[in-house]
Amino acid sequence: MKLLILCLVTLLTSANLFASGAGTSHHLPTKLFKSTALSENIFLLQGEGGNIALLKGDEGLVLIDAGYEKMTKALDHELARHGGVEQVTYLINTHWHTDHTQGNAFIGEYAPIIAHKNVRRRLLTRQEVKFFNMVSEPYASHAIPSITFDKSIVLSINSETLEIIHFPNGHTDGDSVVFIKSANIVHMGDHFFSGFYPFIDLGTGGNVRNMANNVKAVLAKIDDETIVIPGHGPLSSKADLEEFHQMIVETTAEVEAMLIDGMSVEEIQAEGLSLEWEDWSAGYLSTDDWIKIIITSLK
Ligand SMILES: [Zn+2]
Repeated sequence: MKLLILCLVTLLTSANLFASGAGTSHHLPTKLFKSTALSENIFLLQGEGGNIALLKGDEGLVLIDAGYEKMTKALDHELARHGGVEQVTYLINTHWHTDHTQGNAFIGEYAPIIAHKNVRRRLLTRQEVKFFNMVSEPYASHAIPSITFDKSIVLSINSETLEIIHFPNGHTDGDSVVFIKSANIVHMGDHFFSGFYPFIDLGTGGNVRNMANNVKAVLAKIDDETIVIPGHGPLSSKADLEEFHQMIVETTAEVEAMLIDGMSVEEIQAEGLSLEWEDWSAGYLSTDDWIKIIITSLK
């Protein structure tokens, strides 16, 4: 499903631009975000593409991720309810993937973008995700993160502290997890697909073992009260993230055991994983895809 979405977005970019210039701005956008208040001033926006967090306060709005270009009108509409896009003071990108950063072109006109240095490096150049047959052309300069960091950066705004920490080579080579300290909320980026096998972008530096280790490191930093925002999927808890971690560790162990037995990729796919993991294939990736990602990671 995501395969199709990613491909189509790239193909339809120019068509969308054309359509959005048709003088229909007074109409409601056809696609809308579902907005959930996580506190008095923190909101979760869920639509097509990655989950977005919106923080508001006297010093302006902060966005964590910006979604697909085709959701720009919906994002504009959502921001209008909180004072307008002009109020955005910072946008944070959790990683480079288009379903989290295409909205940079819109938000970047108003606010600086913060991300790990590898996000900037990748958005400056043409990127390819062979797994989804997806190509991303270099972004316009205003849509590229101008504030970058290596290990972590702290953003203090609206009496809140956002600790943006880079976790290396899990989902890509530029992922950050954002800890919203006082509110006890964490935005995982794509280090968490809640309830689904995660896509791991091996071509831009991801790896299943690091993903498991990174998630474990996040689990050590949060508690049972923490509200956990996944990159994709429903609003979650620490227990959900623990299950996700367990799924990665145990499915990886199952595949590894079959590799040690000398089985080929096809044989392992034919054998499949334990039945208990079946539900995890109902989202983005089939069990065959997940097995392929694990095997490629382990090689
Ligand atoms: Zn991603």
